[in-house]
Amino acid sequence: MSNELEAIRKDIETALNDGLRTEAMPRADNLDAVNEIIGRLRDSDGSLQSKLVIGGFTLTPIDYGGLEQACETCMYYLVHKKYCDLPELDLPAEPQWSCRLWRI
Ligand code: SF4
Repeated sequence: MSNELEAIRKDIETALNDGLRTEAMPRADNLDAVNEIIGRLRDSDGSLQSKLVIGGFTLTPIDYGGLEQACETCMYYLVHKKYCDLPELDLPAEPQWSCRLWRI
C-alpha cells in the first residue's frame, strides 16, 4: 500500500514538474469559493489530473493572506500517512505541497 501511495506521489510530482497547469489561484478563501471548487471536483471525472488542476496543486507552499499554506499545516493532512483526507481529493501528498483548498 505504501509503495502504491509513493508511486502516486511520484506521478503527481512528475505531472507538475512537466508543467501541468493547475488553478492555484484564486485561493478558496471564502465559503462560496470552497463550495464551487468542491462542486467542480465532484462533477469531474475523478482522475488524478482533474484533482490536481481543479484543486490547484503546487509542489511548494503558497504564501497567501500572511500565511504559508502547505499540506503539513492543513487540517485535512494526515501527517503520518502523508495523505490528504479531504474526500474530494483523497490522495497522497508531500508535506510541502499545497492546494487552494488549504484550510487551518
Ligand atoms: S486540502 Fe490541504 S492537505 Fe489536501 S492537498 Fe490541499 S493543502 Fe494539502
